[in-house]
Amino acid sequence: MRKIIIAIDGYSACGKSTTAREVARELNYKYIDSGAMYRAVTFYFLEHHVAITNPKEVDKALREIRITFMLNPKGVTETFLNGINVEKAIRKMRISENVSQVSAIKAVRVAMVEQQRKLGKDRGIVMDGRDIGTVVFAEAELKIFLTADILVRAFRRQRELLEREDLVDIDSIIENLQKRDSIDSNRAESPLVKAADAVGIDTTHITIEEQVDEVIRMALTKMIQPRKPKA
Ligand code: C5P
Repeated sequence: MRKIIIAIDGYSACGKSTTAREVARELNYKYIDSGAMYRAVTFYFLEHHVAITNPKEVDKALREIRITFMLNPKGVTETFLNGINVEKAIRKMRISENVSQVSAIKAVRVAMVEQQRKLGKDRGIVMDGRDIGTVVFAEAELKIFLTADILVRAFRRQRELLEREDLVDIDSIIENLQKRDSIDSNRAESPLVKAADAVGIDTTHITIEEQVDEVIRMALTKMIQPRKPKA
């Protein structure tokens, strides 16, 4: 079977990462959470007081940032910023409240997209984010676009935060998700939009297992198809 690229895009907290991670595990593919990269950049900018309106400061900071991923003993991917594990830190609300402003900056996107493409050069990858099917891998064989009801998304995110011992009230989470969706969808650079050839899945009333099975089924269909000859 040939190796393909699976792009999973959609709004915040629709289950993209969980689905992508499970699909990658079942197919023995690489999994990359592109949102974690934008979160790591945001963490660095906040820690180093980088003025996001100053292009020189932004460029300098981007040259100093190295993001890598490593599997922990439980087999879960964790994000490293310049060799330091920032997995826990980048999931905090402080980062969620600033990440969409940082990821709207063109220089940030150019730097991240370059790294993301390198990670996918051998195919056999599942990447989730906002612009994976439209920009990063516009040639991906399988593109999924996830949506879900805002309340369901907010409760799922609250549970995730609680698992990390971070208690955040539901109204703050709803506000943050709506704000991020709005900035992500309306920005000039690579806005969040469903690719014309993406398959939409509404995850409001389905379980993670059902989401994963659906994506695997579509992936297997693509994997047994011969590669299209280049025009
Ligand atoms: O996926 P997650 O919610 O962790 O992403 C955090 C933020 O990173 C998003 O709200 C968006 O602003 C940004 N992002 C992006 N492009 C991607 C992935 C994430 O702009 N491919």
